[in-house]
Amino acid sequence: MTTSVTTDLEAAVEDAAAYLYVWALKDIPQDLRDALADAATKETSVPGQRVLQTILKNVQIADTDKNLVCQDTGIAVYTCRVGEHFSLHPARIYAALKTGTERATIEHPLRSNAVHTITRENTGPNTGYRLPIVHWEFIPDWDGLDVKCVPKGSGSENMSFLKMCVPADGVKGIKQFVLESIVGAGGKPCPPGIVGVGIGGSADYAMYLAKEAIARPVGTRNPDPHVAKLEEELFELLNETGIGPMGLGGDVTVLQCHIEHADTHMTLNPVAVNYQCWAARRATAHVNAAGEVDYDREF
Ligand code: SF4
Repeated sequence: MTTSVTTDLEAAVEDAAAYLYVWALKDIPQDLRDALADAATKETSVPGQRVLQTILKNVQIADTDKNLVCQDTGIAVYTCRVGEHFSLHPARIYAALKTGTERATIEHPLRSNAVHTITRENTGPNTGYRLPIVHWEFIPDWDGLDVKCVPKGSGSENMSFLKMCVPADGVKGIKQFVLESIVGAGGKPCPPGIVGVGIGGSADYAMYLAKEAIARPVGTRNPDPHVAKLEEELFELLNETGIGPMGLGGDVTVLQCHIEHADTHMTLNPVAVNYQCWAARRATAHVNAAGEVDYDREF
């Protein structure tokens, strides 16, 4: 009996992963559509306006043709929130996510980007050693599973930065590093997108937090008022850089700045930046204890 339930749940998670990866690549969330349309009303530069109109047309054509919003299918990054009473072990959840990613890639078909990091040989249908990437959270007193899929293109992922500021650098040092990172990135990460910032924790955790930040709905604010204030300030400052859409100059360099934070050591002040391009794709599945799946954008 237990084996039967486990097998069904594994099939449900595999199906969910196969669906999520393709859905995320084809159909961007409404909050992102609104943010892009809003950007087009604000942009005053001619090249910037042309870029934004092209992006909006691109999204419309993807809808009409039921095709991908961008050719870069990225690497599949999943975040799982696993209830403590969900009866499929995380090892089997990982196996199901991997198989689902492979199925989506083969059945659609999608471009396969996965290579060995030294030999650069293709390792399979968007999977390989430690691919896809899965982050885990465990939720007490719950028997369900939420899976969020964020396909991450290389243009924006290449624009990831970490600095171990010292406490004396304070908030000023955090702002300076974020601004330097985005100015240095210029048009490479396909702006305007979402600047994810992770502060606190450790070096690795700050980078994880920056990745979490880019997966939030566009324009949501951190519940901590100190962090939310910094999000607002950075959002304003980043749009004063003049980088503009695709780096061609203009008013809209970023759609938003999101920050996630963690408490840290008294002598640490880590700051991580993870850029998400205009094609900020994300999709979520909710799997209940019986293996029934609902699809949504958020946890
Ligand atoms: S950075 Fe984003 S928009 Fe640019 S090519 Fe990659 S996935 Fe596409």
